[in-house]
Amino acid sequence: MNDRRKQILNELNLLPLWQLKSGTQRQSHQLRSLSEPDSTINLSQSIHHMDWDQLKQAVSQCTLCPLHQTRTNTVFGVGDEHADWLFIGEGPGAREDELGEPFVGPAGKLLDQMLAAIGLKRGDRVYIANIVKCRPPNNRNPSTEEAKQCEPYLSRQIDMIKPKLIIALGKVAAQNLLDSDDSISSLRGKTHDYRGIPLIVTYHPAYLLRSLPEKAKAWKDLCFAKTTMRSLV
Ligand code: SF4
Repeated sequence: MNDRRKQILNELNLLPLWQLKSGTQRQSHQLRSLSEPDSTINLSQSIHHMDWDQLKQAVSQCTLCPLHQTRTNTVFGVGDEHADWLFIGEGPGAREDELGEPFVGPAGKLLDQMLAAIGLKRGDRVYIANIVKCRPPNNRNPSTEEAKQCEPYLSRQIDMIKPKLIIALGKVAAQNLLDSDDSISSLRGKTHDYRGIPLIVTYHPAYLLRSLPEKAKAWKDLCFAKTTMRSLV
């Protein structure tokens, strides 16, 4: 490993976890055997101390789970890094994968409308992220294992943002954040706790595009979220 590379990895607190592979893949950073529990624990600990730039760089180079093999871009998250509101979906779709930004397709437009309905705007006191940062092929749901591998990145984002309220968009986000198998209908309409931060569940905008009658329920959830936020300020 040359000195410059060593210096960069050291600044990212990623040594000695990352090493160069030999042979034709010499140019790629690869994580040492990810099945080694110690490596995973150490990586989580390293991520826990990263600042925004370090975290963005680590995500952009991440090969922790198989989703890295089919992604075009990682989708880190976007918005106000000191947001009061944090919206979390399940994972990037095709357009997001192409552009590297969450919620930019039709579902993104609907999310913007949902935000506007409660007086919010993307990037202004609002941050948007996903459970996984790489697109699951064919828009399938991320697996439990993929979500688990990606969790330290989101966890670090939440630590740095310190949102007042988290909105879980859809079943996958809700179940992963709350470590629950409960249905979305049973998780809606109440305030949950995510490591001391209130969390409210509503439908994913992509689901609402397919199930227009559920929009009324989502509106109810947003009103509930707005009332909850008022009580927190
Ligand atoms: Fe890494 Fe997350 Fe992408 Fe998997 S989904 S490769 S854990 S950034």
